[in-house]
Amino acid sequence: MPSYTAPIKDMQFILHDVLKASQADIPGYDELEPDFTGAVLEEAGKISSEVLAPLNVVGDKEGCRLENGKVFTPTGFKEAFEQLKEGGWTGLDCDPEYGGQGMAYVLAIAVGEMMQSANQAFMMYPGLTHGAYSAIHAHGSDEQKATYLPKMVSCEWTGTMNLTEPHCGTDLGLMRTKAEPQDDGTYAISGQKIFISAGDHDMSENVIHLVLAKIPGGPEGIKGVSLFIVPKFIVNDDGTLGARNGVSVGSIEEKMGIHGNSTCVLNYDGATGYLIGEAHKGMRAMFTMMNEARIGVGMQGLSQAEAAYQNAVIYAKDRLQGRAVTGAQFPDKPADPLIVHPDIRRSLMDQKSFCEGARMLCLWGAELIDRSHRKNDSTALGLISLLTPVIKGFLTDEGYDMTVKAQQIYGGHGYIEEWGMSQFTRDARIAMIYEGANGVQALDLVGRKLAADGGKPMMAFIELVKTFCKENADDEAMAPFTEPLKEASKALQAAAMYFMQNGMKNPNHALAGSNDFMHLFGHVTLGLMWGYMGKAASEALKGDPADKAFYETKLATGRYYMARRLPAVATHLARIQSGADTVMALDAESF
Ligand SMILES: Cc1cc2nc3c(=O)[nH]c(=O)nc-3n(C[C@H](O)[C@H](O)[C@H](O)COP(=O)(O)OP(=O)(O)OC[C@H]3O[C@@H](n4cnc5c(N)ncnc54)[C@H](O)[C@@H]3O)c2cc1C
Repeated sequence: MPSYTAPIKDMQFILHDVLKASQADIPGYDELEPDFTGAVLEEAGKISSEVLAPLNVVGDKEGCRLENGKVFTPTGFKEAFEQLKEGGWTGLDCDPEYGGQGMAYVLAIAVGEMMQSANQAFMMYPGLTHGAYSAIHAHGSDEQKATYLPKMVSCEWTGTMNLTEPHCGTDLGLMRTKAEPQDDGTYAISGQKIFISAGDHDMSENVIHLVLAKIPGGPEGIKGVSLFIVPKFIVNDDGTLGARNGVSVGSIEEKMGIHGNSTCVLNYDGATGYLIGEAHKGMRAMFTMMNEARIGVGMQGLSQAEAAYQNAVIYAKDRLQGRAVTGAQFPDKPADPLIVHPDIRRSLMDQKSFCEGARMLCLWGAELIDRSHRKNDSTALGLISLLTPVIKGFLTDEGYDMTVKAQQIYGGHGYIEEWGMSQFTRDARIAMIYEGANGVQALDLVGRKLAADGGKPMMAFIELVKTFCKENADDEAMAPFTEPLKEASKALQAAAMYFMQNGMKNPNHALAGSNDFMHLFGHVTLGLMWGYMGKAASEALKGDPADKAFYETKLATGRYYMARRLPAVATHLARIQSGADTVMALDAESF
């Protein structure tokens, strides 16, 4: 069975050496002292490796089952969920007014990475609840907040998000679910939603569905969509649970991975719904959930890659095959371990440099969110909006690729189920699809985010790269970071310029390059993250630290990323600049 060890040292390095969290001018960050974050991460790491990770394979093998309209989760999930609730882990960064612990999002993201690495399918139950909590918190009435939030923070009640219908996932304007206004101010919700994660289960007393539906007579398309709270059990005025609402589970989907999560078809038959916010403004409210969820999903790419990588390293050190080309390294053994071979090293370095860079990006992104929420910092808000599709799309595409690389290190043993490596690949695959498929993330990046606010966030990002390169121009140790980053940033600007010059004339020129742009942007962003980490490691080494090897390893891994991964930007730029002509050359009939 695969194992998982929480990367606490690496997280502490990012939080304290790189982000210098406790000194950041963000309200609440003063409590993020190394001892405090260390204690939280240690505890979360223990739950991750001792409670959640052992259930990962159980969830994969057993899956969820539907019996007489009731959904049952795999063996052990219920008990583990109780442990999570008792430890207060479900409300780590939630509002203390509703029972949350009010901790910084950056710390919640670090904890989230560990728990997702240990068991992605399981963590989707509290994850979806957190998203629903955020939407109600941002857009609900005071009464709705008082009714639902305390129970959702504690996960006594869990949450879901209901967008997808059989005929629409991306194009939600085609939605058919109806919300008929009732005399008492509620709405009768009717329709079918499919693929609803954590749609129903046996781990909480109530499930609070957030449902998008159209009020008859409203505007056509996406502008006519409103958001409703539809509880599985109606909540009485005194907070107790009343009648069963008109929502039922039609079936549980059979799927490629995340078997431990109940992906449900939900049928709404005149169910009582309560409007959140204004009528016809549902997408705005849902986006509160989706932006947060997209960063969480980006992190799933990292978390599966990390778990797979850790096991690939163990295997590569253990499995004896062939001899090192430069001479036997373990002559007393029948063969050398896989890790001596350069091609295995390349794969492990790809994985290691991705995981550590992606971790930095997730935590830096979370800091931007904290900065924008806790300080009302509009530059931070602009940057994180720009980077959200990059974090979601790039980290999940790459994260999936990394799980495949880890699987490959096992040879045939990676393909059979016994070693557990195929689960990482199967589980990681969904993150490229849900929360807006990655192709659509790329469209969002090129079509909306790039030019948002007159292009200010994009300029702010380029400025960050320039400032970093300028500040370190005279530092020879940083040259392996600054030189490639400067070149990569030029490619990013050239691509943006190409879109500006050609996209207006023919939008196909921009959209045919959108996926490459998302990846180009992702590599430059990870390059910047490695620049920040390289600088921090190099500074730490000047103090002759006890754990010198950690910092030297960090620098070597960063140099690998800059030399071997970042040059991918040239290919992406060439593809972008070739435009749409070859992409669109064939008639549909020629396929
Ligand atoms: C396991 C699982 C869990 C899920 N959980 C939830 C959930 O909790 N709640 C929920 O509401 N939904 C959920 N979903 C649904 C998921 O979000 C959708 O499947 C996803 O948004 C894509 O929608 P679709 O499947 O209808 O694909 P389509 O919208 O039909 O898209 C098909 C493909 O075409 C591409 N495409 C679409 N439009 C364009 C365009 N204009 N330009 C270029 N390419 C385009 C897409 O990128 C995609 O690759 C889940 C799905 C799965 C499989």
